[in-house]
Amino acid sequence: MAERVETDTVVVGLGAMGAQALWRLARRGVDAVGIEQFVPGHDRGSSHGESRIIRTAYMEGAGYVPLVKAAWHAWSELEEASGTRLVVPTGALMLGAPDSSAVTGSVDAAEHHGLPYQLLSHEQTVERFPQHAVGPGEVGVFEEEAGVVLPEAAIRAAVRLAGEAGARVLTGTRAARVVPDPDCPRVLLGDGTEIRARRVVVTAGSWLPRLVPEAAKPGGGLRVERRVLGWFRTTGVPSPHARGPVFARDAADCTWYGFPSMDGGRTVKIGVHAEAAGNRTEGAQWGEPVDPDTGPRAPDAADARRLGALAAGLRGVSALPERMVACMYTMTVDEHFLIGHLRELPGLVLAGGFSGHGYKFASAVGAALADLARDGRTDLLIDMFDPHRWD
Ligand SMILES: Cc1cc2nc3c(=O)[nH]c(=O)nc-3n(C[C@H](O)[C@H](O)[C@H](O)COP(=O)(O)OP(=O)(O)OC[C@H]3O[C@@H](n4cnc5c(N)ncnc54)[C@H](O)[C@@H]3O)c2cc1C
Repeated sequence: MAERVETDTVVVGLGAMGAQALWRLARRGVDAVGIEQFVPGHDRGSSHGESRIIRTAYMEGAGYVPLVKAAWHAWSELEEASGTRLVVPTGALMLGAPDSSAVTGSVDAAEHHGLPYQLLSHEQTVERFPQHAVGPGEVGVFEEEAGVVLPEAAIRAAVRLAGEAGARVLTGTRAARVVPDPDCPRVLLGDGTEIRARRVVVTAGSWLPRLVPEAAKPGGGLRVERRVLGWFRTTGVPSPHARGPVFARDAADCTWYGFPSMDGGRTVKIGVHAEAAGNRTEGAQWGEPVDPDTGPRAPDAADARRLGALAAGLRGVSALPERMVACMYTMTVDEHFLIGHLRELPGLVLAGGFSGHGYKFASAVGAALADLARDGRTDLLIDMFDPHRWD
């Protein structure tokens, strides 16, 4: 028989953002229900693949720096509360031509906020980072305050802590509809259960456009796109990839990134963040749309060749990946996030459109969502993500 459940706040989608929001709400004593269609830490959304980069001198915009600083702090709180190591410090190397956005964007953000960084000449980069085949004319920006967040472990830790703090966690449960209302927004489940709340936080990732179509309209919409990650065997003993910084490289045809070995020197992982406009290279992933319910197309030989061509920019790795996974980006038009309220959707708090660079912020975004749900406002600097910014 259809049931009716009452609570203060419902969080729909316990991925990167929703798990953190639910934990923040529960530890503040808010009566909360979290709903996840799969199991926390699953591999069917945007938050799998073992590692995510966290950087501070943020090349995507100096405006992100206060939020990433808040995120570092909030990750430590989660590590402490869960007794789990979730962030591995490695430093970060941004590589590219002196006028590339990887280099100029990082320097701008560092200068703007007085962050420590080192601008390295071509020769210095070659000497200091032998694991990279540095191209002619390429230079580097190194920053210490960077590393790797462990995405699946962080989601599981936050959901576990939320449950221990009193949140009701419904896994394997799909929200069929979210009904906005200024006083009593509701979430309807497939079995007819209705969950009535004071606020509903919607953190449905790539499913956001389907679940709440109005949320996907600001600025011209959200696009769900396929991306592929590849793990390459290291060949040198000892491997120069056994430790070292995470990196992002601006190449002629794309921006790609990678991690030092997270498995004791056996493999390194790389991926393409963004293709250069009009790139027609075989395996280029730019813009390939995905239906989130079907999931992204499985990685194939063209993906392996494409990633292999990029891995040639690393020394001491195999020519082709030993394994690959596909994942989804949910892109906004300006590639900045959507966080906050929409007038058309009273009672709902939204967070989506993380455009392939949101994970590092999840700890702080969770805190901001808990503030917005409980108090209607937050001191965290999220104004630039206002869903009404295009009005
Ligand atoms: C390959 C790849 C590499 C990346 N690298 C980085 C990086 O290095 N650094 C970085 O900062 N960011 C990175 N990102 C981006 C980052 O991972 C994403 O921005 C972030 O994971 C998005 O989190 P989310 O909570 O919006 O989505 P998800 O984590 O996908 O969460 C959405 C959740 O909602 C659930 N859900 C959806 N609909 C429903 C429903 N109707 N009912 C119940 N549950 C529902 C889903 O099952 C899912 O668990 C990368 C992304 C990808 C794909």
